[in-house]
Amino acid sequence: MTSYAFEVKQCTKCGSQFTISSVRSCNTFGATYYTDGFICGPMFTHQSALLSCPSCREFLWRDELPTIESTTDYDYYRASLRKSMPDALGMGLLIYEDAIKARIWRTEEQERYIRIRLWWLYNSDYYKVRHRPWWLLIRERGEQHNEEFVLSSEQEENLRRLLTLTDSPDPDMLIMRAEIFRELGEFGKCVEVLNKITDDRLQVAVDVIMRLARSGERRVEIVNAGQ
Ligand SMILES: [Zn+2]
Repeated sequence: MTSYAFEVKQCTKCGSQFTISSVRSCNTFGATYYTDGFICGPMFTHQSALLSCPSCREFLWRDELPTIESTTDYDYYRASLRKSMPDALGMGLLIYEDAIKARIWRTEEQERYIRIRLWWLYNSDYYKVRHRPWWLLIRERGEQHNEEFVLSSEQEENLRRLLTLTDSPDPDMLIMRAEIFRELGEFGKCVEVLNKITDDRLQVAVDVIMRLARSGERRVEIVNAGQ
């Protein structure tokens, strides 16, 4: 089970209040893992760290917003609070693209967070599972696997910037860099990075990405399928 808290938050830019649900606990049981790090599962919820204020439309980082009220009781929340207050705006593809155009980050970590989610949204044409989060639905265009794999200039620019933002010996960054090189079609560099990863935890993903790179495949793929 995924359990939620229901919160009233206050915008730090315009002062208006809005509601939002936040994940208190979830797990990856039965989840499907993808080569780009995306996880999709019946009990797994991606909680957005970035929000958009429903009143002034400014971008807000969730952990910087004061919580005015919090409850785990959905009925109470619906009856007494939600009726008079808007929800925070969800983050979809267009909103992430706007966030990048507006350069809203203050740290490279925040920029990397936004660009990884934009990358997942671009890749969502190729995710093949039932438990698709609502914010990926907008990209669903049916079966695309027979089409030639082409990156738009925006997608390529996003990936090249992510290469800079993941330039670290951390194994979790290395596996991301290997996948980015593969999706860019730079298979030699992909293999070179994979060969630096010795973390057992990532071995299955390393093997899958290595196999795909050696067969010249650039699309995102499943690492291990869920139940
Ligand atoms: Zn606001």
